[in-house]
Amino acid sequence: MEIISTLEEVKARCKELKKQGKSIALVPTMGFLHAGHLSLIEKARQLADIVVVSRFVNPTQFAPNEDLDAYPNDPNHDRSVTEKAGTDILFEPPASAMYHADHATWVEVPELAKGLCGVTRPTHFRGVCTVVTKLFNLIQPDFACFGEKDYQQLTIIRRMVRDLNMPVEIVGCPLVREEDGLAMSSRNAYLTKEERALAPQIRKGLLLLQEKAKQGEHSAENLYSLFAGHIQKTIPSARIDYVRMVDKDSLEPLETLKDSAVVAVAVYLGKARLLDNILISR
Ligand code: AMP
Repeated sequence: MEIISTLEEVKARCKELKKQGKSIALVPTMGFLHAGHLSLIEKARQLADIVVVSRFVNPTQFAPNEDLDAYPNDPNHDRSVTEKAGTDILFEPPASAMYHADHATWVEVPELAKGLCGVTRPTHFRGVCTVVTKLFNLIQPDFACFGEKDYQQLTIIRRMVRDLNMPVEIVGCPLVREEDGLAMSSRNAYLTKEERALAPQIRKGLLLLQEKAKQGEHSAENLYSLFAGHIQKTIPSARIDYVRMVDKDSLEPLETLKDSAVVAVAVYLGKARLLDNILISR
């Protein structure tokens, strides 16, 4: 595996590989890799000749009061697992190289970024879209893999690529969970032992909604109350940031479940803000 940290080098290397007729799949990450990330790398290997993994904690997607400085980091672990997973190039640029001091250009999809996580993180997706665009320009991938764990992010990236005619195919990958159902996330490292033991209740709450929807409960408000009740009962110390039933493509909030919909949640537990989602249907 090649480890590249300069923009010039990754650009030149990827250009050369493309000239040789190789296809490239990119897996953008913020590091502290777990089995969810590795599933994306595995998918990338199936799609293309060359797998590029980026490991970059993107400062522009963090607000000043967020966890940029505390974000978990273990470069040696990441290098070892990406290599074992069959990565060809690990790109790990320093933030100072990715952004000029007078960086002034942003890519935004405001229509899809305003709800869900966008309410508490209003500048987050602008940072995500901008860094992903920069990575696409540097690496020129044929494919890019993103996890359904970050459902809003995946939907926004798909729309950005469609609207701007970016020459890359976005591949969504299923959410990978711990054995007890907790969605894998680098931020799970923030949980204490006690919080970690309670965290799977978020998934259980979503499964409860799926079951109630099947039994005929189609009102979003009633489903939200059921989820809130479940969390209050099982993790009293948690605080729900949001629970929303949305159209799976437009992310528009739905008042009533028609055929199917995504229920997305964010829950604060200790120092972590945990995301999860589920597809429910009648
Ligand atoms: P992150 O390092 O958290 O920015 O995530 C990098 C990529 O991995 C994103 O496309 C995430 O959606 C994806 N990802 C993170 N956790 C999971 C998971 N548990 N299952 C599937 N994909 C994931």
